[in-house]
Amino acid sequence: MTFAGIRTRALDPAIERALADAVDTGSLDPAAANRLIEADIDTLPLLLEAACAVRDRRSGRTVTYSRKVFLPLTNLCRDQCAYCTFVRRPSDPQAWTMTPEEVLAVAEAGQRAGCREALFSLGDKPELRYASYRQWLARHGYARTIEYLRDMCELVLERTGLLPHANPGVMTEEDIALLRPVTASMGLMLESTSERLLERGGAHRGCPDKVPAVRLATIEAAGRLRVPFTTGILIGIGETAAERVDALYAIRSLQDRYGHIQEVIVQNFRRKPDIRMRDWPEPTLLDMLRTIAVARLILGTTTAVQAPPNLMPDGYDAYLLAGLDDWGGVSPVTRDYINPERAWPHLGELKRRTERMGFTLRERLAVYPSFLLRGDEFLDPRIRERVRGFVDPGGLVPIDEELW
Ligand code: SF4
Repeated sequence: MTFAGIRTRALDPAIERALADAVDTGSLDPAAANRLIEADIDTLPLLLEAACAVRDRRSGRTVTYSRKVFLPLTNLCRDQCAYCTFVRRPSDPQAWTMTPEEVLAVAEAGQRAGCREALFSLGDKPELRYASYRQWLARHGYARTIEYLRDMCELVLERTGLLPHANPGVMTEEDIALLRPVTASMGLMLESTSERLLERGGAHRGCPDKVPAVRLATIEAAGRLRVPFTTGILIGIGETAAERVDALYAIRSLQDRYGHIQEVIVQNFRRKPDIRMRDWPEPTLLDMLRTIAVARLILGTTTAVQAPPNLMPDGYDAYLLAGLDDWGGVSPVTRDYINPERAWPHLGELKRRTERMGFTLRERLAVYPSFLLRGDEFLDPRIRERVRGFVDPGGLVPIDEELW
């Protein structure tokens, strides 16, 4: 294996060896990862080059995205993350739980715009906190949000053909089993393995669903049930560099056991005026490049590495230098309700910037090609049947120039 970086000084031979091994074997030594996450000017070029070599082996020069609509089923939540602008209390005029009619209207707009994914993202179990919301659910015939979500996934699937991806927070194995027949995939950001963030003044103070072990248990349950799964880390919320690396290894370990993780998101914290962390420093582009590259080397070729383009609008194309191979869901119809001030790039702009870096942009479904091509175990038969009509033999959506 050869890869020659631009060097101004000799590198530590141990780091050089660890990078070469990571490219050769698809896994990175933890001691090296903890140093590389803070790579300096001498090490950074080689880190990026190694990450690109691993990415190229996994996906060549193809970068993917999913054309989606965003369905924020409810913005009530029992947690209170210090960086969240999505969440509302029931008394807030902007509190919103979508009715079935609203869900269907958005999904139909997405269908008209050529979308294929319906991303359901919502607050975590608000019924455990708010009596008024429990009453709303009861009036609609439900005891729990997850049951309402199941029926809304079914509604969208049946009436529009869009493939639901469900992201309702922490789930039990029974919850996941309930959603599996009506979804193409599910997701839960691990965010961090740092217990410190739950302490006073921490980003996850007052968030029972942000206990790392609880989130890891959900990801593991999805593995047992053979569900194509999305997870990731949120960087810059008070975790240390070592904790960031630890979270990536926790994900890799679950991937090695179950093989169900289809993508790992590296998401950067963004400061907003109306959050508790309004004065907190944001990760820089350099932080993102180092973290994406280390994520790529820890995860090897086992999964896609994704970062949201709308959260670094001036520099997201540089992510391709760090081993990224997916832009995530981009919507031509709905805004990013989690980061409403950050518009998604126009798909034509995303394509132009991707191609300028030497890559081809291709649309994928809410379930990645590798899960479509490796047998039936990862998808419910009904979902598999629908998906079949959407993709080419490589598992990606055929190119339709009219959509650009
Ligand atoms: S769990 Fe999600 S929706 Fe709830 S407060 Fe945290 S970030 Fe916001």
